Amino acid sequence: MKNLNRIYLDNSATTKLNEEVLEEMLPFFSENYGNPSSLHTIGLVANAAIQKARDQIAGLIGAESDEIIFTSGGTESDNLALYGIAYANKKRGNHIITSSIEHPAIRQMCNFLDENGFEVTYIPVDQDGIINPAHIEEAIKEETILISIMTINNEIGTIQPIKEISHIAKDHNVYFHTDAVGAIGQMPIDVKKLDLDILSMDSHKIHGPKGIGAIYLKKNTRIQPQILGGNQEYNLRAGTENVPGIVGMGKAFEIAARDFDKNKDHMMNLRDRLIDGILKIEDVRLNGHPKLRAPNNVNVSFNFINGKSLVSSLNLAGIEVSTGCACTSKSAEASEVLRACGLSTEEANGAIRLTNSKYNTKEEINYVLEILPSIVNKLRQKSLI
Ligand SMILES: *Cc1c(COP(=O)(O)O)cnc(C)c1O
Repeated sequence: MKNLNRIYLDNSATTKLNEEVLEEMLPFFSENYGNPSSLHTIGLVANAAIQKARDQIAGLIGAESDEIIFTSGGTESDNLALYGIAYANKKRGNHIITSSIEHPAIRQMCNFLDENGFEVTYIPVDQDGIINPAHIEEAIKEETILISIMTINNEIGTIQPIKEISHIAKDHNVYFHTDAVGAIGQMPIDVKKLDLDILSMDSHKIHGPKGIGAIYLKKNTRIQPQILGGNQEYNLRAGTENVPGIVGMGKAFEIAARDFDKNKDHMMNLRDRLIDGILKIEDVRLNGHPKLRAPNNVNVSFNFINGKSLVSSLNLAGIEVSTGCACTSKSAEASEVLRACGLSTEEANGAIRLTNSKYNTKEEINYVLEILPSIVNKLRQKSLI
């Protein structure tokens, strides 16, 4: 395809596939087509590739390789974590604690559980979008079996106090799950140091392929599988493995670990340049926490403007951003995350999210800052009429 020469700043929706990852995947679409469960050579090749990917993923998060279970992506990982822990522990209790700013993959599963005999408590966030661990501790009761809090929010980039929350969970003998989809490659994660029971990951947010993800499941943690069938993935997730996807995810994680420091510094520089420049425009606010935020995340609200109009105008100018969560961007509702931070409907509707990656350049950011003020002015003049 022709290079469209676009400035892509929507890396929390998805990322560009890394060339090295593609190279690694290609043979598994053609000559290495074996079923990893087969006992002949071509099957063993596929199985070995899966084991290698398990090692690569475990390596990035400090897990053992048999604690990695592949799924079809972040959504399935989140669903499996919550459903799996809830149904495996329902004799012990039926209470689950989560936050008011979780991804829909968590929120919708919580709604389902709430309608099916479980009880869910939603912990609010402060105006910067941060959860207070004390509020979680207060919500724990006799029946509590699981706490699920995301590591980094996908809309406003806030980094949650996962370590404190994990310790609270341990003190009360409650399972702790974190949706780390937004955190992989953005901050160091060590499942042992954080003492996590279960963690969700995906691949396409860190330059790997779509349709593949995984959970980390601490050894000896029981979960009820959602997909039943063959005995793949330690009997926890049936179905013939997505071998090219798994191989690509493994490579993406290996690269993320290898280039972590370099990428993080680069993304932070671009982020801060963008924030400093945008805040020079009048009547703008930064959403999320000024310091505790993902290296690649900028989320800002412009007064007197609709975020969707701004996204369209920027798109015409070759700049690709979003209003927030890609999964709900087509709905008319204001962002629930921004509303949870106490923003008015108008403020929430005036928000856009710009998320960079290692592939963005300083020149691209300079160009955005050059043309953004005039685009904002034009839209504001229109909204006055
Ligand atoms: C993208 C995302 C998901 C869903 O992942 P998919 O791979 O798209 O299913 C879940 N949680 C967070 C925080 C995300 O950013």
